[in-house]
Amino acid sequence: CGITGYIGLNDAKEILLKGLEKLEYRGYDSAGIALENQDGIHIFKEKGRIADLRAVVDAKVAARAGIGQTRWATHGVPSKINAHPHQSLSGRFTLVHNGVIENESELRAEFLQDVKFKSDTDTEVIVQLVEKFAKDMETEEAFTKTLRLLNGSYAIAMLDTETPDTIFAAKNKSPLLIGVGEDFHVVASDAMAMIQVTDRFIELMDKEIVIVKRDRADIYNLQGEVMLREPYKAELDM
Ligand code: GLU
Repeated sequence: CGITGYIGLNDAKEILLKGLEKLEYRGYDSAGIALENQDGIHIFKEKGRIADLRAVVDAKVAARAGIGQTRWATHGVPSKINAHPHQSLSGRFTLVHNGVIENESELRAEFLQDVKFKSDTDTEVIVQLVEKFAKDMETEEAFTKTLRLLNGSYAIAMLDTETPDTIFAAKNKSPLLIGVGEDFHVVASDAMAMIQVTDRFIELMDKEIVIVKRDRADIYNLQGEVMLREPYKAELDM
C-alpha cells in the first residue's frame, strides 16, 4: 500500500498513476485517485490492479493537482466502495490514508454519532472528523485537531475544495516524503514513486503535518510550531 500526491503545472493524473505503479511492490487490493480542477474533485477508484483503475479514469479530466492511494484493506473488505479516496459527507474534503486507526470506534462514538458512513473503513473517520471540526475553524486547525485525536499509524493526503491548489498531508508510523521540483511538489510513501519527476526530497517526521502548494511546503508539528528542514538528494538505482 502507498500514497501519492502531486501539485504543479503538468498532468496530475499520469504522474499519480505512474507513482502508484511504482508502489505496487508494497502490495494492495484496490487503488484510486482524486483529481482537482476548476470543476471540482473527480474521484476514480477500483478494486484490483492499477491497470483496472487506469481503465476507469476519464482521460478527458485534466487536473494539475491530485492524490492517489493503493489500499491493503485492514477495516472493511476490498471493494470499490471501501477503496480510497474517501470523502466527507458534503464532499468538501477528500482523503487517502495508509495505516490503521486503532481508536476509530471510540472516535465514532464520541464525535460522529450523527454521521451516516459511506464505507466500512477506519479511514472515513478521519475525513468525517475534519469536516465536523472545519465548521468552526480553519482547515489547517481542523486537520491538526483531528490528527491529535488519532491513535495508530497513518500517512495521509487530503484535498479541501475551499482551499484549492493545496494538499494537506501528515504522517505517524507510516512513511511519507515530500518531493520538491522546479515548479511543483509531490508527496509519496517512497522516493521510488516519484524519482522520475524529482530527486529532491524532504523527510516528514512522525506527528508532523505539511501544507503543500505548487511552490512551497510548510511543515508544522501537531502543536502548530514551524519545522524547518532542507531537502536531500535521493540516489536510487532505477
Ligand atoms: N486502514 C485503511 C483501510 O483499510 C488503510 C489501509 C492501507 O494502509 O492501505 O482502508
